[in-house]
Amino acid sequence: MAKELVVENVSFSYGPRQVIDNISFKVQAGEMLGIIGPNGSGKTTLLKIISRLLVPDRGRILIDGKDTASWSPRAMARTMAVVPQETQISFDFTVRDIVEMGRSPYLRRFQAMSKRDREIVERTMEATNVLHLADRPITELSGGERQRVIVARALAQEPQILLLDEPTASLDINHEVEIFQLLRHLTSRNGLITLVVLHDLDLAAEYCDQLLLLAQGRVIADGSAEEVLKGETLAGVYGVDIVVYPNPVTGKPQVQVLAPSHH
Ligand code: ADP
Repeated sequence: MAKELVVENVSFSYGPRQVIDNISFKVQAGEMLGIIGPNGSGKTTLLKIISRLLVPDRGRILIDGKDTASWSPRAMARTMAVVPQETQISFDFTVRDIVEMGRSPYLRRFQAMSKRDREIVERTMEATNVLHLADRPITELSGGERQRVIVARALAQEPQILLLDEPTASLDINHEVEIFQLLRHLTSRNGLITLVVLHDLDLAAEYCDQLLLLAQGRVIADGSAEEVLKGETLAGVYGVDIVVYPNPVTGKPQVQVLAPSHH
């Protein structure tokens, strides 16, 4: 298993527009990093650079000290799984077909899945609560159900590093909590390195070990929820008045946006 993911002095521009400006951070095995920040702050772009969908102008991505720039797509897929923000699947694949695709980095061309592959597929469908949908076409599912299938496919890849871009944006709160409980559990138990972009700051405080707050392509704050979620910092970044107080049940920081006063 990978022990450490290091993002080192990474910068990136779309044409002349720099959207990632010298970002550095580390995530250790067993840790879940929450990436937060307003729309357009560079969160999705940063995930795409880490998964090598985009090549940074400067800087490196290191896994256990090795620069991933020269890794083959297959080596990357065996190490890292990605749950993108939106997934377009227009063919009538069944849920099981989709989750089985997670095993493809381990199979040679035309090689059939082994008993173990099939067990992993069943197990991840069970853990993500989609087993009852196994034979349904993906096109007939709700957005939330589809999202759980995409998470299942990523887990079937048995990644060491998991990147998720707003994985619960279309889920009900019960399914949202279910997915985060599962991610938390897998990250701690299996020593995964998990990076998740999310909007809900309370959820971030609740489940993540470490938060990275971005604004305009820069790291504004990096550390524990208590260190990052400060009223003054958030007010500056989000441009609204915010108070932060400890959740009476969990003790974690909880964020409350104050409605602008109309003098
Ligand atoms: P976030 O995920 O935090 O909302 P993004 O990484 O999606 O931020 O976007 C960062 C900035 O890059 C935004 O200003 C956005 O408009 C711009 N951007 C995103 N994708 C592209 C693209 N394909 N071409 C040009 N600009 C882009």
